[in-house]
Amino acid sequence: MEAGLNNTQADYPRNIALHHLIAKKAGEMPDKIAIKFGQRTLSFKTVNDAASKLARHLLSFDIKTGDIIGLAVDRSPEMIISLLAILKTGAAYIPLDPEYPKDRIEFMLEDSAAKILITSNKYKGHFTSNATEVLLEDAWDKINGYPAEEPDTEVTGQDLAYVLFTSGSTGKPKGVQIKHHNLVNFLLSMAKTPGMTADDKLLAVTTISFDIAGLELFLPLLTGAQIVLTDTITAKDGRALLELAVNEQISIMQATPYTWRMMLEIGWDQKLPLKVLCGGEALPKDLINKLTARCSELWNMYGPTETTVWSTVKHIKNDTDITIGKPIDNTQVYILNEQLAEVETGAIGEIFIGGDGVALGYLNRPELTSERFVDNKITGVAGDKIYRTGDLGKITPTGEIQCLGRIDHQVKVRGYRIELEEIEHALSWQENVKEAVVVAREDRPGDPRLVGYIVLSSGETKVADFNAFTEAWQRALLGQLPEYMVPDDFVLMDAIPITPNGKIDRKALPAPDYSQITRTENNEYVAPRTANEKLVAGIWQEMMGLENIGIYDNFFQLGGRSLVAVRIMACLEQETGKRLPLATLFEHSTVEKLAARLELNAEAISWESLVPIKPKGSKMPLYIVHGAGLNVLLFNALAMNMDEEQPVYGLQAKGLNGIDEPLDVMEEIAANYVEEIINHDPVGPYAVAGYSLGGMIAYEMAKQMLAMGKDVKMLAMFDTYADQTQKYDSLLKRIVKNGWLLIKQVAYTPVLFVQDPKRTIEYKSREVGRRIQKVFKKVFPDKVKKKEGALAYTDDINERSHAAQKNYLLTPVNITLELFRAQKKTFYMDDFKLLGWKPYALKGVNVHDIPGEHNTIFAPPNDKQFAKVLQQCLDRAVK
Ligand code: AMP
Repeated sequence: MEAGLNNTQADYPRNIALHHLIAKKAGEMPDKIAIKFGQRTLSFKTVNDAASKLARHLLSFDIKTGDIIGLAVDRSPEMIISLLAILKTGAAYIPLDPEYPKDRIEFMLEDSAAKILITSNKYKGHFTSNATEVLLEDAWDKINGYPAEEPDTEVTGQDLAYVLFTSGSTGKPKGVQIKHHNLVNFLLSMAKTPGMTADDKLLAVTTISFDIAGLELFLPLLTGAQIVLTDTITAKDGRALLELAVNEQISIMQATPYTWRMMLEIGWDQKLPLKVLCGGEALPKDLINKLTARCSELWNMYGPTETTVWSTVKHIKNDTDITIGKPIDNTQVYILNEQLAEVETGAIGEIFIGGDGVALGYLNRPELTSERFVDNKITGVAGDKIYRTGDLGKITPTGEIQCLGRIDHQVKVRGYRIELEEIEHALSWQENVKEAVVVAREDRPGDPRLVGYIVLSSGETKVADFNAFTEAWQRALLGQLPEYMVPDDFVLMDAIPITPNGKIDRKALPAPDYSQITRTENNEYVAPRTANEKLVAGIWQEMMGLENIGIYDNFFQLGGRSLVAVRIMACLEQETGKRLPLATLFEHSTVEKLAARLELNAEAISWESLVPIKPKGSKMPLYIVHGAGLNVLLFNALAMNMDEEQPVYGLQAKGLNGIDEPLDVMEEIAANYVEEIINHDPVGPYAVAGYSLGGMIAYEMAKQMLAMGKDVKMLAMFDTYADQTQKYDSLLKRIVKNGWLLIKQVAYTPVLFVQDPKRTIEYKSREVGRRIQKVFKKVFPDKVKKKEGALAYTDDINERSHAAQKNYLLTPVNITLELFRAQKKTFYMDDFKLLGWKPYALKGVNVHDIPGEHNTIFAPPNDKQFAKVLQQCLDRAVK
């Protein structure tokens, strides 16, 4: 072993519990801001006092050192205060993400015999367990009755601080037990390297159910730095994170490569005075180059939960030396062979970690603990354990450690640690499943997917409606596993391939349909010829993770979807300075055609509203108007699933090129689309449809076309509510109407919650966020950072379309309306049955239920059923 690598000895207060150190820091700088959350700020004193009071309240439930308390609340300062309060009682906390399935949280509470579950009114009574439920809101009402002095519980460095559950290969998650001294050693080492001082501001983005959140929440409290805490929605939004990093002048942020990519993809191009801590999975080369160009320091952080957050760190300066660096304080790393002997320097072996970060083991799992935490034969000290990471590694000539991937089937998907066996176990219990193997694939960089390979118990190798099976499995798994563990795709297999020595041959498992490369035009590969073809093919290869893309290869047949389309167009714009509409991809979907498009000068690029999505076919064409997202690429899957002879066109908004003035009067928007349709097909008959807000536009279009004497055979709404304008109502009437609606919306929320708690919470929090933002924009128009480029135009068009809708008076039209209604409800509506259309369609409303909710009706697998119902409706309309 490289001399010096493990000489990491450093003094630290091994016997002092973390919260005592934090209380000391709070005493030194009581008035300094400790936490900022939205517009709220809390000082060190406020945080520490509130935690002490809450601890006293929790102690009234007979909590003793060594007990366990679960915490399942949304991200907020109270979440941090509660964590601190639990530590002050002497109990260990179990961080529970309330978004996880109920069963999984209940298992964790039961497995740990948690005495208390701290949650909030929102989740009241939601989790069933033996733990006493303490509601944060109730506790907050009471805590002022307690003194703010530190509770005099006896807690030392040897007591447990938390139990963190991670995916388990035998089918159930396992709880890693971390003591105070593990955490204190780790944090004090981090304060030195990569370093944090009281001048720092850290943007905290990680869910508390991931151990790395410990750095984000406790390191600032220990060093006097400030936490800028994000809510759940912001934490998943690259754009919002970047805005926060800039506006709040964040100096340190820690995240997994997935989150960094998210921020880069939305156009982070300025250099920031930001120390980037990237960890949790391998740091890819391309990310290094992009991040080092935009931040002040980049650090690669490595370590498993079992050795307390991070065990090695490395300051990365360029992409030639990607290592995980050297062990942190009081930590040793060994590269061992199968006999647990050290390999020679430079040879590959398994990474074992020893020292003060090593956990106590897995809760209630003695066998698993002794399998993974083994005696340290190198030091030979009795009781000294080293943790077997399952990672392969070697020591480089520069004396650093290189991590070379996994030995087992643990994977990381979007930063989450997953044991594939746990998913396979859950799948094998599903109906019709005989055998299941799950693999994480990243056929397109940046789009990691879990794929389930299934052998059916019936032995069938062809099933007419395999989708119905896969949907049922996905639904069942969502009830048991966190969403990120549910496979995205399934492949039906005759048999699972086996290697000569009888193991599952994962490498022989085929890629699912999405990446099936079906070459068009004679199935021949023709290499790019011109500079533009090379540019387009190169970008597709990079963005879609495919090799050898030829000039006749088709974007959609290669599995292209709307997100990757956005990236491709942004990249092409960067390289050539030319902005092409996303919809160009419909007509110019091969490399050859798209490259030819780039030859045109900017003025010649068409930004017409009418977009041919699937122009071929003998049937009556269908014209679909964009929804609020403005993206007509959304309709692609629907169109492709319709009859071969069914032409489909999309209508995109005016102004997307940033040159044309967007329209803000409904009648004018509709007239513009009608004109383009009639120019394209002067005779008819016509079928018009609109998605969401687009439904209102389609309605006005049909009205205008009928007035012109045109034959409108079908008018369809894709989940559009007939929102009548309130422009002509008196102020009093408006107040009464909206107030009453609000009451009904609130009253209906529990019904939605019972049907689907996760979706309801997501939707409601997004809604609240949006409203807050709206008010903020109104009150502080100068403080709102203006977006640039295409994003600014999109926002502008969206705002104007909504203004158009607000002013638009719906009047009865002599027509039948075909209403395609999303089966799942996301919000309260006064008229769930006909979505308010009855008074406006004089010939009646025909309702067609389609799977999914408002935002997912076009997404697979819902697109197929939707296409089927829509095609039947169209075919009936022409009869
Ligand atoms: P977790 O317990 O979720 O922190 O996952 C630990 C595992 O993630 C390690 O055993 C590695 O396989 C992987 N990992 C974490 N950080 C890195 C890194 N910087 N480079 C490579 N792999 C990493």
